Amino acid sequence: MKEYKIVGEHLTKQYKNRKVVNDVSMHVVNGEIYGLVGPNGAGKSTMLKMLLNLTKPDMGEFTIDGVSVQKNGYQTLRKVGAIIENPYFYEQLTGRENLELHCEYMGYPNLEEIDKVLGLVSLKNIDGKHVSQYSIGMKQRLAIARAILTRPEILILDEPINGLDPDGIIEIRRLIQELNKEHGITVIISSHILSEMELLADTVGIMKDGNMIQEISMKDIHEQNAAYIEIETDNAEKAGYILNEILQIKQFRVISDGIIQVFDLSKSGKEISSALMKYGIGVESIQKKQNSLEEFFFKTTRRSLA
Ligand code: ADP
Repeated sequence: MKEYKIVGEHLTKQYKNRKVVNDVSMHVVNGEIYGLVGPNGAGKSTMLKMLLNLTKPDMGEFTIDGVSVQKNGYQTLRKVGAIIENPYFYEQLTGRENLELHCEYMGYPNLEEIDKVLGLVSLKNIDGKHVSQYSIGMKQRLAIARAILTRPEILILDEPINGLDPDGIIEIRRLIQELNKEHGITVIISSHILSEMELLADTVGIMKDGNMIQEISMKDIHEQNAAYIEIETDNAEKAGYILNEILQIKQFRVISDGIIQVFDLSKSGKEISSALMKYGIGVESIQKKQNSLEEFFFKTTRRSLA
């Protein structure tokens, strides 16, 4: 049995007459990175706000370690650090001063922790700068530092890589992985960037139009969506014959005129293309593909809408 750290059951939130979250349940395993994915407007932030007791659900509840967030907010949310929407800082204070204020505000006396978290997010040598001089990536790291300052068991990040440049994205990804793997923090991230979630998440919850379409582990997505080689030729029929008879490849299918997908990966793309060319078949393109989270997402959301 999996041990769930966080469970959301039958959550519903309505604004005016519209259900922006409609009877959604979610299950976060202790110690994992959970990606709440889906397009803008899917209801991800609303879910996280209900989890953080910032928004009251019309129905349903969240529990953390079996205790209701809606009934026991203080007790449960002490275990949580979060960044929701744009993090606010005092721009004319330094990063360190902002963290000191946070400690005071939270009634957390352990100022030594500030050095540790600044080191963790690689801001230690610039902690004397005013926040107004920080880049977006630095502010995001400072926000994570603030969220983990009181040593939470759970970290909740709403769209943490929005607005970051590629270097910033890599840094935040590494930081999240380190907090999860080395410090054992359970992480929930919401994002509409599927390629990034594919690199980070252990499990994804796919949301669309206020509904939870599916919760699935990335491992299952990869197993169900094995890699294959796709070849575009000028003669699929003859190419099929070569694959079968000459290369002894049995698992392939012709999906349209000229396009073949090969599921038996015992021969490399290079071996296949040179065999085809040897028999005079034109190869327009050949590439290895993996049905990634992106493909899975479109497949499942289309099916659910059909
Ligand atoms: P996501 O985080 O997936 O982009 P949100 O949870 O932010 O989605 O929003 C879901 C829907 O709920 C959107 O259509 C949004 O406009 C609407 N919504 C969110 N908050 C409010 C609010 N306070 N009042 C009215 N509508 C809201």
